Amino acid sequence: MPTINPVKGTHDIIADEADVYSYIESVFAKEAESFGYRHIVTPVLEHTEVFDRATGEGSDVVRKEMYTFLDKAERSVTLRPEGTAGVMRSIMTNKLYATPDMPLKYYYSGTTYRYERPQLGRYREFRQIGVECVGEDSVYLDAETVALAARTLQKLGFKDLRLKINTLGDKASRENYKEALRAFFATRIDQMCPDCHERLRLNPLRILDCKVPEDHALVADAPKMKDYLSPESLERYQKTLDLLRLLDIPFEEDDTLVRGLDYYGEIVFEVHCISPEGNDYGAICGGGHYEGILTNFGGPKEIDVGVGFAMGVERVYALMKEFGLIGGLASTLDIYLMPLGEEAIRPAYELGDTLRGLGYSALVPYKPGKLGAYFKKAERKGARYAIIFGETELQNGFVQVKDLTKQQQEEVNLKELPDYLAAHLR
Ligand code: AMP
Repeated sequence: MPTINPVKGTHDIIADEADVYSYIESVFAKEAESFGYRHIVTPVLEHTEVFDRATGEGSDVVRKEMYTFLDKAERSVTLRPEGTAGVMRSIMTNKLYATPDMPLKYYYSGTTYRYERPQLGRYREFRQIGVECVGEDSVYLDAETVALAARTLQKLGFKDLRLKINTLGDKASRENYKEALRAFFATRIDQMCPDCHERLRLNPLRILDCKVPEDHALVADAPKMKDYLSPESLERYQKTLDLLRLLDIPFEEDDTLVRGLDYYGEIVFEVHCISPEGNDYGAICGGGHYEGILTNFGGPKEIDVGVGFAMGVERVYALMKEFGLIGGLASTLDIYLMPLGEEAIRPAYELGDTLRGLGYSALVPYKPGKLGAYFKKAERKGARYAIIFGETELQNGFVQVKDLTKQQQEEVNLKELPDYLAAHLR
């Protein structure tokens, strides 16, 4: 029978790799919690309307990338293409806004689905870790959010990152700028890619981050956001940059940086990194300040402001691997038990359980084997210690304990085994 492949754009994450994914998520969770964030887990499956309301008509994800289908009751449902909309829906469903303690701070991690063309660093099912900080408007929170993304990546061991920052200004500044871009590109659009034709109609800002090389030259000559910023937005932007300098977070300004989703305004940012082998996996992280999402869900206007980011775990993993940052992160086996003879299997089974109760990982064979084969297996499993015994040793209350790294073996009294292991393995 032919084997069945995973669905195009999805992938299996196995053993050592899965350990690193968990590690990335746990480092992020710890960092987010240190900034006062709480964990939120929302469903992968939402009513399609959740994303229609949140993401805006001009967003690529809504236009063409969503996994949307009718369920058996003919309701339109969608596999989440990003994390923000579900959190906003949840804030409303659970009335999380009914608290005097603003801002609301939630972090999430989970799978995300986009019907994109799979390529290097681009999947159809991928994992995102991210935060949403909602309900208080402050440059301090904007800068803090950028800092959280940077700190997480620093804790994961990254050094050579490019943190790109831009401002999209307030709504009025943005509208003026969009008008200027429309006028500028209207006469040049014939030379541009088909997607840009659509962008010109829906959201000309998106033309600025067109990935088609031939379009770049035209974009370089386009009007600049800075010339259309209100004094308030300019001041806000400069204050945010100043706070990043205060926190010692290196950044570079990039006036072509816009974000794929329409709800962003004021500060936006992305983190990029070229691997040692020259691979560009695209942005590792993207986010910014947003307004107007909660009211689309019927939420209170007074708190309809937020800032957040999402980081792609697949891309972080791929880069960590290339930078040599994943050594020692896979889980290891503490002890491989080596019962000699049929009669020793049952006591080994029991000893394995006792050792696990003491906090060690232990593997026990269920069929008696030869010592040579046991050692080969223990080595393949990366075990640190072997405990070897037959029925006679057990009756006399002794086992042989072998340090598999140092290749040193000692006889240990069973009663003293816990202390012995604590002194050697911990
Ligand atoms: P976005 O909401 O598009 O800014 O996505 C946030 C982050 O998710 C990006 O910076 C990427 O790291 C990651 N990401 C987005 N799309 C994909 C994809 N198709 N495959 C893998 N990672 C992705």
